[in-house]
Amino acid sequence: MNAAPADQIRLLDLQALDSRLDQLAHRRRTLPEHAEIEQRSTDLAQLRSLTVAAETQLSDTQRELTKAEQDVDQVRQRAARNQKLLDSGSVGSAKDLTNLQHEVGSLAKRQSDLEDVVLEIMERLESGQTRVSEMTARRDEAERSVKEAEERRATSYGSIDAEVEKVTRDRETLAAAIPADLMKLYTRLRTQNAGVGAARLFQRRCEGCRVELSITDLGAVRSAAADEVVRCENCGRILIRTSESGL
Ligand SMILES: [Zn+2]
Repeated sequence: MNAAPADQIRLLDLQALDSRLDQLAHRRRTLPEHAEIEQRSTDLAQLRSLTVAAETQLSDTQRELTKAEQDVDQVRQRAARNQKLLDSGSVGSAKDLTNLQHEVGSLAKRQSDLEDVVLEIMERLESGQTRVSEMTARRDEAERSVKEAEERRATSYGSIDAEVEKVTRDRETLAAAIPADLMKLYTRLRTQNAGVGAARLFQRRCEGCRVELSITDLGAVRSAAADEVVRCENCGRILIRTSESGL
């Protein structure tokens, strides 16, 4: 294949732009924020479920308290009714009176036990409320933390994408100036060789594979016409000759 030396040199500039685009794509894929957001989101999901669990437990305790308070109320009302009956003096028989007095006594004991239960539930309610506030605060903090990392990632995306756009435009302009057959060869070699299709021959060394050319290969390159597209015998990339090639 033949191509004007100036077009061959353009290939080096094109390679530099393509390598830059590859770097930018790699940076975009491997931003530290990706792993950070994933970790923080996992933490957030866990905190959300812990918060829900704490809230559920709290509302169970609240229901338990309502029920216990109703129990106390019932016993209290019954005791009041009995006391009223006793006070009225309408209970005639000694046996009924004894039974009634006995019931008043056991209701007082029952009321006291139930009030202890209410107190115990109220203590649990208080620690449950504390737990809910703690978990809610930690969940909110985790939400802010995820959002903050996402914002940082968006900022990085923004600057990477702006550069990608600019380099892509420069690349299009440059590519348009390079002959189609040379472009086709370059593109194929670039795909086959880890993103590098054209390399500079610098001080007898191929900058694509870093291997120094043998005497024979060097002789072949030296005798090749300036518009002949030469390739590295080792890696197959297009070798671009410059004044620093050591020929
Ligand atoms: Zn090479």
